[in-house]
Amino acid sequence: MRTMMKNFLIFLASFLLLASLFSLYDYSASKTEPVSLDQIITALDNETAKSVEISGNELRATLVDGKIISANKEASDSLSTLAKNYNLDPAKLKKVKIEIKEPSGLMYWLSNLLPFLLPFIILIGFIYFMSRQIQGANMKALSFGQSRARESNSRDKKSQVTFKDVAGVKEAKQELQEVVDFLKNPQKFLNLGARIPKGVLLVGQPGTGKTLLARAVAGEANVAFFHISGSEFVEMFVGVGASRVRDLFTRAKKSTPCIVFIDEIDAVGRQRGTGLGGSHDEREQTLNQILVEMDGFEPTTNIIVMAATNRPDVLDPALLRPGRFDRRVMLDPPDINDREAILKVHANSKPLASDVKLRTIAERTPGFSGADLANLLNEAAIRAARFNRPQVLLEDCLEAIEKVMLGPERKSHILSDKEKKITAYHEAGHALVSHFLPNADPVHKVSIISRGQAAGYTLKLPLEDKYMHTKSEFVDDLSVMLAGHAAEQEIFGEVTTGAQNDLKQATRLARKLVTEYGMSDKMGPRTFGQKEELIFLGREISEQRDYSDQTAQAIDEEVSRFLRTAYKVAQTLIRKQRAKLDSIVNALVEREVLEREEFAKLMTA
Ligand code: ADP
Ligand code: MG
Ligand code: ZN
Repeated sequence: MRTMMKNFLIFLASFLLLASLFSLYDYSASKTEPVSLDQIITALDNETAKSVEISGNELRATLVDGKIISANKEASDSLSTLAKNYNLDPAKLKKVKIEIKEPSGLMYWLSNLLPFLLPFIILIGFIYFMSRQIQGANMKALSFGQSRARESNSRDKKSQVTFKDVAGVKEAKQELQEVVDFLKNPQKFLNLGARIPKGVLLVGQPGTGKTLLARAVAGEANVAFFHISGSEFVEMFVGVGASRVRDLFTRAKKSTPCIVFIDEIDAVGRQRGTGLGGSHDEREQTLNQILVEMDGFEPTTNIIVMAATNRPDVLDPALLRPGRFDRRVMLDPPDINDREAILKVHANSKPLASDVKLRTIAERTPGFSGADLANLLNEAAIRAARFNRPQVLLEDCLEAIEKVMLGPERKSHILSDKEKKITAYHEAGHALVSHFLPNADPVHKVSIISRGQAAGYTLKLPLEDKYMHTKSEFVDDLSVMLAGHAAEQEIFGEVTTGAQNDLKQATRLARKLVTEYGMSDKMGPRTFGQKEELIFLGREISEQRDYSDQTAQAIDEEVSRFLRTAYKVAQTLIRKQRAKLDSIVNALVEREVLEREEFAKLMTA
């Protein structure tokens, strides 16, 4: 709308300019003095006229004294008729030079037609500009159907990613080495009658390096790489997704061998016919088109379709059939060795101080994904730069770990003395209970500096990576979660809103113990409820009950029982260890932060 306005203004301005030019021209032409017709005849009669010029309807006479006068005559009357009408002596006419000029072509027409044509010209001009606007919009609408896939030419050495850049994930790399071989040397496999795999599905938590690994395969095999994200298929208009898929594969076929990478395929590849989510028709069409394309190309066509998802369980079974994404490559979250290796890859470009041991950082970051680790080192480097240090120090890294884990520190968030005391007791409660319960993780740090959402925090880290959790760990965890609440209640006789998040987490965990892990003796070894997911939020949205109302009540009771028991344990510990609790609180109020060693010293004192 704005550009339309602008165009129109430009048009108007140029029109005004033109008009003023015309009027200027008119001025120069009217050096001649307009007179009445009979004045010209008189001039001819008394022989003061030197020459007469007839151009169209205009009669112009140049007088002896150089003056030019002009008058209009009727179009049908010639000069001789006029002379006759005015009783002019024809002999006198012969004495003057008579010039008959064709009315000067363009000017004549313009001056005659412009008044009529002008409105039309303006109108046409306006319509033209309007139509250009609309066409622009149309062009945009048409290009919707084209795929937005970005082709990165991995033959470009500089931006090339190879397996070297992907640390850890050994098994995945081994499997994908095969794909690289297919792309490099298909004939070897075809000669043996082997069918080249068409689709490879990368499965792993967010940030485990799926996108990176797909790129690395293209880099290793030195082939073109088409990258599109599943969510880009889903647009407002039905049919766009399908046409994008078509376009994508058409382009890919032109540059074989290549890899087509569909990132986050669960955005389109969810089970069809679940009826959830408004545009599910659209997803269905897009998905169908992907299947059609994958089935369509010859087994000898050297295109390998890779896709990534963190939710293989929601994918449509049709995607996973042989001949489609039948190869699955799992990317596990990195263990401590992988984490060290990933840190090494990303530390390459950063000058680290000699006291930074990547192993230490790896030890302190269980549960971090590759992306988290990359982010961590980046934050550390930014922090070092902020303090104008030439190197990244250990403290930068440690600070960055907490920042990635819990959000940025909010030093300016000043607590009042009372709030400080409450927060100290709350965190001390967590720390104390965590310390004394045998199956809880050891305390790494206690702090009452607010960070992210929390007013304070207690950092607990497992001694080693855990892939499985036992019931007794969960039960102790519940006690630790509720300890902040219990401590507040114990000391101040009432609780604050500070424990809200703890309660939420604890309740969710207790519910999981009962309904998902089968850890409640009373409810027995079974799960309760089937979760459906809302497509766009990817969150648990509706739970399909597969149990009766009575069971629901029993579940609620079990959840409450777990929570109450855990709370009791925390409360008892806090009462019994009140002296230790107070000493933690005093240290916290004084120093705000307690590192692991300081905390341990307090506990053994
Ligand atoms: P995903 O696609 O699985 O969500 P990405 O491939 O986008 O994860 O990873 C995000 C970033 O994390 C990468 O660009 C890379 O810097 C880093 N990263 C993740 N995994 C690894 C890994 N195994 N080795 C090195 N860097 C990694
Ligand atoms: Mg990704
Ligand atoms: Zn808490």
